[in-house]
Amino acid sequence: MKPVYNRILLKLSGEALMGDQDFGISSEVISSYAKQIKDIVDLGVEVGIVIGGGNIFRGLSGAEQGVDRVTGDHMGMLATVINSLALQNSIEKLGVPTRVLTAIEMPKIAEPFIKRRAQRHLEKGRVVIFGAGTGNPYFTTDTAAALRAIEINADVVIKATKVDGIYDKDPVKFKDAKKYKTITYTEVLNNDLKVMDAAAISLCRDNKLPLIVFDSLKEGNIEKVVLGEKIGTMVL
Ligand code: UDP
Repeated sequence: MKPVYNRILLKLSGEALMGDQDFGISSEVISSYAKQIKDIVDLGVEVGIVIGGGNIFRGLSGAEQGVDRVTGDHMGMLATVINSLALQNSIEKLGVPTRVLTAIEMPKIAEPFIKRRAQRHLEKGRVVIFGAGTGNPYFTTDTAAALRAIEINADVVIKATKVDGIYDKDPVKFKDAKKYKTITYTEVLNNDLKVMDAAAISLCRDNKLPLIVFDSLKEGNIEKVVLGEKIGTMVL
């Protein structure tokens, strides 16, 4: 089967990396992600990845406990670098060449993010993991995912979540919650649906970048999405 996308930006949640643990990185979850990523690389898809840091530190939660917001956001961005390195390690163990490019320079650990360099790596079939978010406080890794997707001319952002799509209300709390197959960015913003923050949604909408929200914890789902199977919710 042929993939329907040539180049994708995959957004992985940091929080989902914990698996059953209360903190840190579950080796099961990260290995499952790595395997699923290898499977789509083998299909010929060029893969950029942004991974969150919520399993380690979030600036907003830190601020609630008295950490200065900007300092907390710096800590959060560094958390995404830890996750990026862990993911790189797991993907490379499967024999797939991978580069981590960071928005905050740390040349002893990773390459700095330079758009042309990222594109070159992708053209050569390397998985590119974008660490340290946008490099700015007060942003999220969802916004980083939207931004990097636009910069690398990705065909689509695919956002892995714990839920299997976008619902009109919380499906955990409400049994009659209805899942959308497709929805527009304007509807997401107007109905304040918690898909991504408004900055990320606006970036995608203004740049006509489609988004697919799906459940990543079921192994094989990332491949289904790139093969064009209609799982999850498509936002246009
Ligand atoms: N962060 C930031 N700027 C960015 C991206 C992330 O300051 O461009 C910080 C912010 O504190 C955030 C943390 O990094 O809470 C971790 O990212 P996020 O909460 O998006 O991770 P996820 O929810 O996907 O695990």
